[in-house]
Amino acid sequence: MERVSARLDDLPIRDDLRGLTPYGAPQAPLPVALNVNENTHPVPKEVADDILDSVALALRDVNRYPDREFTQLREGFAEYLGHGLTGDRIWAANGSNEVLQHLLQAFAGPGRTVFGFGPTYSMYPLLTRGTGGTWVAGERGHDFTVDAESAAAQVADVRPDVVMLCSPNNPTGTPMPIDVIEAVYDSTDGIVIVDEAYFEFAPRDERSALTLLPDRERLVVSRTMSKAFAFAGARVGYLAADPAVIDALRLVRLPYHLSALTQAAASAALRHAPTMLAAVDDIIAQRDRISATLTALGYTPYESWTNFVLFAGVDDPAATWQALYDRGVLVRDVGLPRSLRVTAGTEEETSAFLDALASIDSAS
Ligand SMILES: *Cc1c(COP(=O)(O)O)cnc(C)c1O
Repeated sequence: MERVSARLDDLPIRDDLRGLTPYGAPQAPLPVALNVNENTHPVPKEVADDILDSVALALRDVNRYPDREFTQLREGFAEYLGHGLTGDRIWAANGSNEVLQHLLQAFAGPGRTVFGFGPTYSMYPLLTRGTGGTWVAGERGHDFTVDAESAAAQVADVRPDVVMLCSPNNPTGTPMPIDVIEAVYDSTDGIVIVDEAYFEFAPRDERSALTLLPDRERLVVSRTMSKAFAFAGARVGYLAADPAVIDALRLVRLPYHLSALTQAAASAALRHAPTMLAAVDDIIAQRDRISATLTALGYTPYESWTNFVLFAGVDDPAATWQALYDRGVLVRDVGLPRSLRVTAGTEEETSAFLDALASIDSAS
């Protein structure tokens, strides 16, 4: 029997979800995919073999629920982060997106407000609305920077329950100075989340917000294995915060949310942290080559402390995106005027992007 399927609007969906669109970076099978800031360097073989052995071992006990407290993994993250952190100050979930969702479930939600300086990570408003809260976007200044005085004034004005600080910022690459984080923390009674998804790509001598954690029980520093660690497909994110914050997250997580296989894979990868991170220096070199070449081609790249570059001076971003697509190169149109964003790939992929762009006359 033929049935016409219902449309989303016909369903008794929550009113606050009506009209929203899901996260939707295109996943196209192009030879050079530089659109979602993955680490395009594969996991080194000796590490992949060790991860496989650990997963195989975990599989023998897969009839049982996993360690609900993922104790070994938390200790692994504490050791990796340093700064005197211990396992009781660490939380983890299936990607830092789930970590952020746990935070919003515990500290935001209906009747509450989440604030961030736009343009910023597109998942913040989606996660905020998905958990029933209200997203409020603040403003950035020249070249997408934020200064301490303006940041503190905006936060004091909005009085949000949660502040999201993307440091460095996606999709712009912009550094967030540590004094801005301190000023924002002092201007609110809410939770302040510093999303350091790209911190490993920042200059080596830069201070992480982890150094601010002592005596700041409302501060949370979130990280991910998806970018520097080349582990996006495994889905592992984590955070460091006061043990009381961790207690709050236990109230909202699903029991056994991290599978035994995920825990085994992530713990094994962490044992090889230096090898896993070996490609970071190469990616930084490719990022800087992208910026220099873009300038030479007549575009205007923004300063980036991440593994991607946002560049302006594109006459028609949709047309340039399509012209690159037709040449086998996938980049991201993040919806900013006259701009596109590209991830730094391997040397070969980066060359493919730069050559393709040079063959298109679209700079002005
Ligand atoms: C990529 C990214 C993440 C990581 O998300 P995962 O769920 O860990 O893959 C988090 N924050 C920002 C700003 C990102 O760009």
